Amino acid sequence: MTMPKRTAAIIVAAGRGLRAGAGGPKQYRSIGGKTVLARAMEPFCTHPGISAVQPVRNPDDADIFDQAVCHLAYRPPVDGGATRQASVRAGLEALASQAPEIVLIHDAARAFVTADVISRAIDAALLTGAAIPVVPVTDTIKVVDAAGAVEATPDRALLRIAQTPQAFHFQTILDAHRRAAREGRDDFTDDAAIAEWAGLTVATFEGDAANMKLTTPEDFAREEARLGAMLGDIRTGTGYDVHALTDGDHLMLCGVRVPFNRGFLAHSDGDVGLHALVDAILGALADGDIGSHFPPSDPKWKGAASDQFLKHAVELVHRRGGRIAHLEVTMICEAPKIGPLREAMRARIAEITGLPQSRIAVKATTSERLGFTGRQEGIAATAAATIRLPWDDIGAANGGSNQP
Ligand code: MG
Repeated sequence: MTMPKRTAAIIVAAGRGLRAGAGGPKQYRSIGGKTVLARAMEPFCTHPGISAVQPVRNPDDADIFDQAVCHLAYRPPVDGGATRQASVRAGLEALASQAPEIVLIHDAARAFVTADVISRAIDAALLTGAAIPVVPVTDTIKVVDAAGAVEATPDRALLRIAQTPQAFHFQTILDAHRRAAREGRDDFTDDAAIAEWAGLTVATFEGDAANMKLTTPEDFAREEARLGAMLGDIRTGTGYDVHALTDGDHLMLCGVRVPFNRGFLAHSDGDVGLHALVDAILGALADGDIGSHFPPSDPKWKGAASDQFLKHAVELVHRRGGRIAHLEVTMICEAPKIGPLREAMRARIAEITGLPQSRIAVKATTSERLGFTGRQEGIAATAAATIRLPWDDIGAANGGSNQP
């Protein structure tokens, strides 16, 4: 790939996406455990050929926008306009002072764009000045009249489906957008159409069938199922923890503060339930244990609230592209009684992990007054975690083979 002086990318995320059904703007909906917007933006933010990423968002979405992509590096978002065209122009104007050589314009609803498509877009724009990714049409297309009767059957060999990112010499497409705005033309549905209207020749390059636009509830359901099938590396980990009881007036159990006539003797808050869960998740990841991630010798963790340990373990699963399918914890103690606390504990673990409560089990048993738990010298907990990782994870561990 040739490196231009500067290549910017505009991510158009200002639409309302109402055809995707209930649940707010579609670019903020989660698919495969990650928002559509994060999926669409990440390949640009991490591409070595892209020097600046300029998002355009709806001003009403400021909070959810930040939440979705706070882990990425990008220029301060600008507010979109009433139409897609106006939003793109806002992005172009925001980049004007930077004067990039090339600009790629990408719709946030195309969540599955790859680095290869981005590289091809940069190359094509350098070569031609204006180029769009296309894929062949496999269905026969009909032109119909207002009543729905077929008027014509265009030659399929001459038809292509246009995708994004569409790529242009920056100044050329900025000029075309400004002229269209001046002349009151605001009805273009993509940037290639504006370039065509401005008299430019628009070249095409190879798109990617997977780089489809998420539009309808069916699109979301199909892609969710596809991503779910990719997470076929299913793993189970177990955890076990004990803390001694000492003087005190409360216990932290599964993230819930429980008034009690004793307290935990521990470096952290002594929450055995959350500690066992953390070890179960780390075990499923084959990534050390709670002691190696949060050494008791580190003063940073003295008196620490254990919810941060669990949040970190969940984050490790997400970083590997995985998801947690199920968590369960069993508390082993004579007192306090866990039954009345069960739903509060499930709700708290759901809050910490972001999992639905239906994927979290909290159980309890006594040890029939036997042993240290029976004598109420300490409280123990066991846990199990089931997680799903992409097969690639195993492939990497096996030296590149994609199969277990
Ligand atoms: Mg512990």
